[in-house]
This record gives sequence, structure tokens and C-alpha cells, in this order.
Amino acid sequence: MLLDIKNLRKAYPRGKQTVAAVDNVNFTLQDNEFVCIMGKSGSGKTTLLNMIAGLLTPTQGKITLNNTNLFDLDDNAVSAFRNQHIGYVPQGSSLLPNLTVLENIRLPFYLTPRLGKQSLAYAQTLLEKAKMSALQDAYPANMSGGEMRRVAILRALICQPKLIIADEPTSDLDEETAADIMQLFMDIHQQGTALLMVTHDNDVARYSQRVLTMAKGKLNEN
Ligand code: ADP
Ligand code: MG
Repeated sequence: MLLDIKNLRKAYPRGKQTVAAVDNVNFTLQDNEFVCIMGKSGSGKTTLLNMIAGLLTPTQGKITLNNTNLFDLDDNAVSAFRNQHIGYVPQGSSLLPNLTVLENIRLPFYLTPRLGKQSLAYAQTLLEKAKMSALQDAYPANMSGGEMRRVAILRALICQPKLIIADEPTSDLDEETAADIMQLFMDIHQQGTALLMVTHDNDVARYSQRVLTMAKGKLNEN
């Protein structure tokens, strides 16, 4: 088992009360599985992904990835662990505008400069495989939405993670570009990487092996 989530809860303050954005979620993901999570806006999907990525501390519950309990680690260790094991493709545009494509892809390595030296060759290999070498010195402002999303996906791959999580990676793209992006994800999946993807799009969900639905913070098997 790659990912094991137990009784996960995140409550946000709202006025004098608290609202559970993620409410007692239990979920497991196997090595090399591809699972989609669907659900209305505001149902807690991004909050859930942010906790799995170690970016947000749960109010309650446990997340075990590769046999490590994420929140047993201190802040620095969580960042290092996340970098090593999870590639995150966040919702919307997430590239840094003042860095080139190549610099954006290598960004996760700036936290670990010792390994960063090796990242140049691998970043260039990833760009070649995605047929994007010509763009390596371009800046995000001069690229299309689809190209930017591909770069965000390559950045998620730079540390060769076992798990990629992606938050609505096709929601702002046209149908044809979305299909291209899904092809890239399927290539990644076929090479042995597990995918956990949040989407509104039934066409995207069809690529996955299992679809879960989130409603008012609860995660349900369909
Ligand atoms: P989704 O990704 O499914 O649209 P989110 O996880 O972004 O949902 O949000 C779930 C709920 O939590 C929403 O009601 C949202 O308003 C609330 N929420 C999200 N982030 C915060 C925050 N930082 N502070 C307070 N409430 C939040
Ligand atoms: Mg969201």
C-alpha cells in the first residue's frame, strides 16, 4: 500500500463555530493505482490534497505514505519527505513567472542543493520526452495554458516520486489540450507512478481505475 489515510479531519473556524472541510475521511491508494476524486466546488477536495501533500496540518487523523506517518515529522522533514515522495500539480497556474521553464522544473531541488546538480540532466530528459526542449529557456508569460500545465507536471516529476497528486489539471484547458495532458499523465502512470487526481470532468475520470466522490467533506466510494 502506498497511501493510507485514517479518520482524517480538517476543521476551519467560521465565526464562533468550526466547519469540517474534510470530515473523517478514510482512504487507501495502492502502488501504481490511478484514482480520481470528483465533487462539487467547496466539498473539500483541495483541502484533502493539501494535507496529503504535507502542506496543511490535519485537525485529526493520520496519513501514512510509504510506511511513514507524515505528521510525525517536523516541518523541515515534511518538506524533504514531500519532495522525495510526492509530486504535486496544484490547481491553476503554479509556475513562478520570473523563472524559465528549466528553472521552474528544477525548483523542487532548490531545497536540496546537494542533489540539485544532478537535476539539470534529468530536467532536460523530461523536456525531451515531452517534446518541449525548444521551450526550456522560455518564460511562462510567453506560453499557452497547455504548455504551462505540462511544465507544472514535469516539475512534479523531477524528484521521481511514487505518487503524483493533481488538482483539476485540465479544468482551464480546451478539450484537445486536456486530452494531450491526459496522455502525458497516462504515460507517467504506465511507467509505474500512482496518480491521485481531482477533476470535474467525466472524460478525465474515465482514464482512472477508480472514482471517488467528495461531498461536504466526506469521501464516498461510488
Ligand atoms: P474544493 O477544492 O472541493 O472546492 P476546498 O477544499 O477548497 O474545496 O474547500 C472546502 C471548504 O473549506 C470550503 O467551504 C472552503 O470555503 C473552506 N476553506 C478552504 N480553505 C479554507 C481556509 N484556509 N480557511 C477557512 N475555510 C477554508
Ligand atoms: Mg479545489
